[in-house]
Amino acid sequence: MRLEIRQFLCLKDNIGVLVRAPESGATAAIDAPEPEPILAALRKEGWTLTDIFVTHHHADHVQGIGALQSAFPNVRVTGPASEAAAIGGLDREVEDGDTVYLGPHAAKVISVPGHTLGHVAYWFEEDALLFAGDTLFAMGCGRPFEASPATLYRSLLKLAALPDATQIYCGHEYTLSNARFALSVDPRNEALQRRAEAVAELSAEGLTLPTQLRLEKATNPFLRVAEPDIQASLGLLGADPAEVFAALRERKNRA
Ligand code: ZN
Ligand code: FE
Repeated sequence: MRLEIRQFLCLKDNIGVLVRAPESGATAAIDAPEPEPILAALRKEGWTLTDIFVTHHHADHVQGIGALQSAFPNVRVTGPASEAAAIGGLDREVEDGDTVYLGPHAAKVISVPGHTLGHVAYWFEEDALLFAGDTLFAMGCGRPFEASPATLYRSLLKLAALPDATQIYCGHEYTLSNARFALSVDPRNEALQRRAEAVAELSAEGLTLPTQLRLEKATNPFLRVAEPDIQASLGLLGADPAEVFAALRERKNRA
C-alpha cells in the first residue's frame, strides 16, 4: 500500500511532514520543527505518532521533539549517530546504509554531510520517496555550515544518482526565492522558465513541494554546475563542477 503523507508549514518557512503506513498505522514525523502544527495535523487525521525521523541537529528541526514525546510517550526518535549529542533524546542512532522501517516500508539512511556534518536523508526506495531535510531544496540547496561546499556537492551528487522519479520532500519552503536566484544564473533554461511561472504563487497551504528528482536535474542550478550556461554566467566556463558549485553557493549566500 502507498504511504500516506501530509505536509504543512511550521514556524516561518519550515515544512512539517507526517508519513503513515496504512498497513500498520505506523506514523512518522520527519523532524520536529514545531509541536503545535504537528499535533494538530495528527489530531485532524486521527493518527498516532510512532516515530520521529530526524535529519540533522538544527533547532528548527529538533525543538519539537520533547513536546511530541510528552504527547506520545511511546514515540521512537531516530536520528544520525554522529549528531546524537547535539540532538539529545534519540532512541535509535543511525548511520549511512542503515535501514529503518515504517510499518513494512523500508527507508535507507543516506549520509549527506554539508549543511551539517552528520546530516542524513531517508530514502524509501520502493515508495520512490526521499526526505532530504536541509540538503536539497526545490531549485536550491542548503548552506554548507559545517563542511566545505565540495563536501555538500558530493552529497548532492549522491542524491542526484537516485531514480529520476523520486519524489523529494524538503525541510523548508524556499521555492519562490530559489526560482528567482536560479533564473539569474540560468536565464535561458526553458524548463526553469516554465517552472518559475508554475510556482509563481504558493498553494493555499503555502507550499510548492514535494518536487521530483527529474525536475530538479532540469531546473536546480546546484545540480547543473556542469552545464556551460551556468558556468559561463559565473565566469567559470570549463571549470571543475565542484569549483563552480562553490562559486554558485557563494553567490547565493550573498543574494
Ligand atoms: Zn538546518
Ligand atoms: Fe532548517
